[in-house]
Amino acid sequence: MGKASLCKTKLNESLVGNEPLHLRRHKGCHGSKASGMMPPITRPISYRENAMRLLLVEDDRALGQGIRVALSNEGYTLDWLQDGVSALHALRSESFDLLLLDLGLPRLDGLTLLQQLRATQHDLPVLILTARDGTAERIAGLDAGADDYLVKPFDVDELKARIRALLRRSQGRAQPVLEHAGVCLDPSSQQVTWQGSTVVVTPMEYQLLHQLMARPGKVVTRERLSRTLYGWQERVESNTLEVLIHNLRKKLSTELIRTVRGVGYVVELKP
Ligand code: CA
Repeated sequence: MGKASLCKTKLNESLVGNEPLHLRRHKGCHGSKASGMMPPITRPISYRENAMRLLLVEDDRALGQGIRVALSNEGYTLDWLQDGVSALHALRSESFDLLLLDLGLPRLDGLTLLQQLRATQHDLPVLILTARDGTAERIAGLDAGADDYLVKPFDVDELKARIRALLRRSQGRAQPVLEHAGVCLDPSSQQVTWQGSTVVVTPMEYQLLHQLMARPGKVVTRERLSRTLYGWQERVESNTLEVLIHNLRKKLSTELIRTVRGVGYVVELKP
């Protein structure tokens, strides 16, 4: 009992009670349109050192906001939804690197969501966040395809550590190496080579290149690329994508990525 209440105090103090200033400034961008709060702050590229996109599905607003701040400060791109139906739709139409999933959710509960997700997507790491600490529920969650779970209230440092562990594990899973026009991208090691030599790319350049090389011959829209890099909530400087593409062309080949004006970018298939 002592440990649980200590954790709760810690979480409440660090995430909710002493709400940081930048959390307050972000409040207006998540549903409360009438609040008239400041627009979200555009962060510099270097801020996104982790460049991983996480989806949080949690209907407890205070907890959700706390997690968002904590993980955004770690450099993750975090999108947050508060019901199961929206989350399932997002998971089917967009790509994420990890799912943080509450079980008790409106419209579609977390377990059902997970079962439906696993019917089509097997690789996405899923961490369950739940107040249901009964053994049966943990087992049901793991059987439905979760990779790990955390029982609320939890310590935010433990949450971060488990996320890191799951991402490491998923990156270590055998994933096909993508090769195209002399460029080779290895998702397991996140290494990029050009004609056999290693090329140093930033995490955001890597994410962008991965998105494009995973769909050769298909135009990937600017919107999709921006969302992968920034999520839904943030305003992106209008030329950020151009800068990243410019860097990739400079570091790799100018022939690799073609701009489709007004639409997006494509890695062309050789005829
Ligand atoms: Ca809940």
